[in-house]
This record gives sequence, C-alpha cells and structure tokens, in this order.
Amino acid sequence: MSLLDVHELTSGHGDVPAVHDVSLRVEAGEMVALLGANGAGKTTILHTVAGLLPTMSGQVSLDGTTISGLASHKISRLGLSLLPQDRGIFFQLTVAENLRLHQRSDASVQVDDIVRYFPALANLMSRKAGLLSGGEQQMLALGCRIIAGPRLLLIDEMSLGLAPIIFKRMLPVLSQISSEKQIGVLLVEQHVHLALKASDRAYVLNRGRITFDGAAHELAARPEFLESSYLGGSAG
Ligand code: ATP
Repeated sequence: MSLLDVHELTSGHGDVPAVHDVSLRVEAGEMVALLGANGAGKTTILHTVAGLLPTMSGQVSLDGTTISGLASHKISRLGLSLLPQDRGIFFQLTVAENLRLHQRSDASVQVDDIVRYFPALANLMSRKAGLLSGGEQQMLALGCRIIAGPRLLLIDEMSLGLAPIIFKRMLPVLSQISSEKQIGVLLVEQHVHLALKASDRAYVLNRGRITFDGAAHELAARPEFLESSYLGGSAG
C-alpha cells in the first residue's frame, strides 16, 4: 500500500475532463516529479487529490483511506498539504504568526525545526510576510506546510517568481525534510532538470494522460522524449 495511490483518475473543470485515467503513487519519504507542458493537467491533478476539484471517475487514497469525494479540510486533517502556486501565506501577518497559524495542536514540529531547515528565517520572525523577498516567502510557505506535520506534500511550481539559483538551493532542503520526516512529496515543476535531479521517480503528463512513469534518472537520460513532451513549452 502506497502513501498516495491515484487510480485511473479522470477530473477537470465543470463537466470537461482535463486529465484522463491517471494512475500514480507516492511513497513515504519519496520525492516524485510530475512534469508536463503548460496546460497538460498537472495542477488539475494536485487540486483533485487535495479535494479542491471533484473526481469524475477513479479513486484517490491516502495510506489506504479513500479520500476522493471528501472535503478538502477533511483531506488536510488526514495529513495532506498543498503548497499552491500563490504560496498561500498571509502577507499582513508576521513570519512567526504565519508559522503558528499552521502548527499542529500537538506541536510535534516546532518553529525551531523550521529555522534549522531555513536559517534565513531566524532573524525575520517579527517581519510581515508581505515584506519578505520572493525566496524568503517561499521558505516561509514551505515552513508553514512542514510545521503542520503532513504525511504528503503536494507542491505546485515552487520556483515560480524565484531566481533559479534560489530554487536550486531550496531543493536539497526539501529532499532533506522529505527523508527526515518521511513525508511523501509530489512536485510539479517547470524546471524539469532540477526537479529530476532532486526526485526519486517521475511522471510525464501529456494532454491529460501519463506518458512516462519511471525512475527520475531514466527520464533525465531521454532528452528527446522530454523535449517532445513539451511541444511549444520549456523543458529547461
Ligand atoms: P501550467 O503548467 O500552465 O500550470 P497545468 O499542467 O498545471 O499547466 P492545468 O492548469 O491543470 O495544467 O490545466 C489543464 C487544462 O484545464 C487546460 O486545458 C486548462 O485550460 C484547463 N483549465 C484549467 N483551469 C481551468 C478552469 N478554472 N476552468 C476551465 N478550464 C480550466
């Protein structure tokens, strides 16, 4: 039994499917890249798994519990956390307030743990999130997810609006968190080669269907396939 098991999922917007018969899995402590051109359906999958979009057919389960059909807040209580493209932090609150807002009631992950992963946040605790740099905001956004003690983290384009060098520095930290806390990570990312370097396995989505399922290093060794999967898009 996998941590996340997506079985023949079809979903979309209104009554128009955007992804068809998608099957994928994520194990505890594993980083998995979900790649594909703009409009391929990556965000649709993340949003459906998180309960923000309805499942048209198929099934999604988290650690053996069926979550398709559950409300997003219930799925989140079962240990699934989504880091959305807009980062989902409160700009008017301070860094410390944002972190406290997401901390689990049993405080199993402490602010000190987050600072150990992201030392740059140490001196910014009383600063409003809206005044942070893009990189600092993304560290806070990730910190807010980690302090909630998730078992599965869905990340939608963490690199958006970041200098590539900043994103490159954050990826090993994400790997470290995933393996130390045994969190499964499903990573949607346009920086394909960086994502593949950091991931154990990968899926490629082309027009709503899975066209590759295998080891990340195998996909990295197939540049022509990757390029053809990104017709008109960037695979850089
Ligand atoms: P990107 O890399 O650009 O974020 P993506 O792979 O995440 O793309 P999705 O955002 O999941 O792709 O979009 C999949 C399909 O669903 C696209 O054809 C898109 O136009 C369509 N779509 C996305 N959001 C909506 C919406 N709110 N209403 C209707 N159609 C939508």
